[in-house]
Amino acid sequence: MGEGGGFRPPEQHEREQWMETALSMAKEALENGEVPVGCLMVYRNEILGQGRNEVNETKNATRHAEMVAIDQVLEWCHQRDRDQKEVFEQVVLYVTVEPCIMCAAALRLLNIPLVVYGCENERFGGCGSVLNISKDDLQQTGTPFQCIGGYRANEAVELLKTFYKAENPNAPKSKVRKKQ
Ligand SMILES: [Zn+2]
Repeated sequence: MGEGGGFRPPEQHEREQWMETALSMAKEALENGEVPVGCLMVYRNEILGQGRNEVNETKNATRHAEMVAIDQVLEWCHQRDRDQKEVFEQVVLYVTVEPCIMCAAALRLLNIPLVVYGCENERFGGCGSVLNISKDDLQQTGTPFQCIGGYRANEAVELLKTFYKAENPNAPKSKVRKKQ
């Protein structure tokens, strides 16, 4: 059995501190022409994964911040020969925007217990906004996880607004995406 001791949920001041770092990742995404979402995966007070959206850079629609961070945690486990199940069961995800349906399903499959997020994801949210993947009774799809939203939500929304304003049809042609 692991290293003793179960999962300890973070206290309020810890959540705020980690969200600060996630927001700086989101700002970096914006500066690089990506949907401004940033996230961290924290295991026992240590950052094992740190991601921002990389969809445009990689031309791969699945490279959301959460997926980037998941890959880093897997690599961390691999390098240390750690059991990924044991690790993910004690990871807290901090993300500036509510995880989408795809990412919420991935978090279930990894048995991540807790997600702390900023603003809601009205277009694709998988933790209540569009579907409730986090809580639904999906017996073949991992375990439900707890969500705590609203951390630095205004700043997270402002970043998204800035991004989508730059992407509007009046933007220079090179910035308009050709495909849906
Ligand atoms: Zn996603």
